[in-house]
Amino acid sequence: MNAYVITPPPTVSVPVVGRAERFPVHRIYCVGRNYEEHAKEMGFTGREPPFFFLKPADAIVVADAGQTASIPYPSLTQNLHHEIELVAAIGTGGRNIKAADALQHVFGYAVGLDMTRRDLQGEMKKQGRPWCIGKAYDQSAPIGPITPAAQAGNIAKAAIWLQVNGADRQRSNVGKLIWNLAETIEHLSAAWELQPGDLIYTGTPEGVNAVVSGDTLHGAVDGLVPITVKIA
Ligand code: MN
Repeated sequence: MNAYVITPPPTVSVPVVGRAERFPVHRIYCVGRNYEEHAKEMGFTGREPPFFFLKPADAIVVADAGQTASIPYPSLTQNLHHEIELVAAIGTGGRNIKAADALQHVFGYAVGLDMTRRDLQGEMKKQGRPWCIGKAYDQSAPIGPITPAAQAGNIAKAAIWLQVNGADRQRSNVGKLIWNLAETIEHLSAAWELQPGDLIYTGTPEGVNAVVSGDTLHGAVDGLVPITVKIA
């Protein structure tokens, strides 16, 4: 048994629908600009190769079924944006996984929010610097319970939507992903060896916008457990 000079951090984990055991989180990969209408609203057009950024595993905030999770309004920003996303949870890892085999590596799916300090991200983009301060900040990755893939229905064609204080902000369909999940896994696993416990935030549709303290976000993907998150 190892001894450590400081207390090791706890394992970050997410509840699993119908199971007492939880899903331990290894890494959080995120896909940028993966719905055409969102790419356009961010000032881009056309199909570019997929690109990725990461969030730390401990950016996860679990929004459990039927409950309202709370996240603080983060520091340093005046423009906190919501991005509703389908999240895939990797059950078996690998490198150079082909798209045709990719979905066998998926344990299940969840609804997630890629919360973004848009002003800081924009400033970093302008300066050609890393996005970390805009994307990978503390508590930036709310997520709902993971539904095992076999129980998730036809997730590739599921509606995805987000309401803020009861009003529609984002509404689209997973079928509109530029790079679908299988293709995303092919690209990701060429660049990194995927590991069990990895999460993939697959990208957000159009309609991203600001939220402020006191707002309640309610997000869903058909077939999965919806999430409710309040900005404290
Ligand atoms: Mn995103």
